[in-house]
Amino acid sequence: MGIYDSVSNVIRHFGCRLGAASLLGVLVLALTGCGAFPAPGYSEKTGAEVMMDTYMTFSIKARPGENADSLYDSIVDKGRFLEKDLISGYIEGSELSRINESAGKAEGYPLSGEMEEYLTDCLEISEKSGGAFDISLGALIELWNLEDAIKNETRDYIPPADEEISDCLKSCGYEKIRIEDHRIFIPEGMRLELGAVGKGILLDSAGEEVSKISSGILAAGGSIRTIGYKPGGGKWNIAVRDPFDTGEIAESVGLLGDYFVSTSGDYERFIKADDKKYHHIFDPKTGYPADSGLTSVTVVMKAEEGSGLLSDALSTAIFVLGENEGRVLANEYGVYVIMIRDDGKIVRYGELR
Ligand code: ADP
Ligand code: MG
Repeated sequence: MGIYDSVSNVIRHFGCRLGAASLLGVLVLALTGCGAFPAPGYSEKTGAEVMMDTYMTFSIKARPGENADSLYDSIVDKGRFLEKDLISGYIEGSELSRINESAGKAEGYPLSGEMEEYLTDCLEISEKSGGAFDISLGALIELWNLEDAIKNETRDYIPPADEEISDCLKSCGYEKIRIEDHRIFIPEGMRLELGAVGKGILLDSAGEEVSKISSGILAAGGSIRTIGYKPGGGKWNIAVRDPFDTGEIAESVGLLGDYFVSTSGDYERFIKADDKKYHHIFDPKTGYPADSGLTSVTVVMKAEEGSGLLSDALSTAIFVLGENEGRVLANEYGVYVIMIRDDGKIVRYGELR
């Protein structure tokens, strides 16, 4: 999988000189920016980064008196810190790795304030989604080892055996996680994995910078934060890629102001074996890649009414739950959802506020 494949929403600035809607168009657009020279007193910055194994583009216009370059650097620094020191389960010494090392230990692990907040939020979403969203699937994700297989384009991928999967599920389950007196206790064999919400947390971590930005877009792969107006005024047009023809757009939403948009789908990170498609979002009930009849789920949420973590977790949860239960969860959180079914039908649910 190339890094470009992880950009699962296509951003289009209407009226922009380079407003092509193809995947490549996104990159050209994102890298070169839009609009003419900034008005006096405003500074702009557009750039691209690879973080969290994902190609990210940030395009920002600072409020008067603020400096776009330093805001941009600060967003990137926070993102790198977040990944390396806190939430990556693959970097030795990160807080999440230490938590995982503490599995089964009677004394548990003392949580930082930030991590306690992320994990508490995640557990609440697990509860509300009936366990469809579950951060305790690390061992299962490792057992399937799909990320490596996808990266290396492994031929003859062999999925794990049923017994291995059911055995592995014994060390999973969010309800076995206990947080008490700022310490976390996870049972032996359990590994936490925050891959489903990492990019959303990154968008949240930019909150202070966002308040100093008059207009912009932070695109962390399939998780996006819009800020203010599109350059020149008007709505940001966020497009959802067509899962059946990934160079095309299936649907788009116009957003004015600060929103989180998150997409989860089975059409980017998957591998084929024996004519079956194995993708990276698991149904915690079965231990197999989710097969709920949906191929793509996009959640749109007003920034002030939620968080990047929440919109990210909800897109994953609704993907696992499927159309009907997905609607119930979307309704509970008051978010707007675009679901694309396996048969190609697009289902929109909720109110775009
Ligand atoms: P992406 O990471 O491609 O944006 P998602 O946000 O939907 O896609 O997250 C998928 C990642 O979340 C997987 O790679 C895996 O690490 C983790 N994951 C898989 N299934 C679940 C689940 N049911 N609940 C929480 N996390 C999951
Ligand atoms: Mg997600």
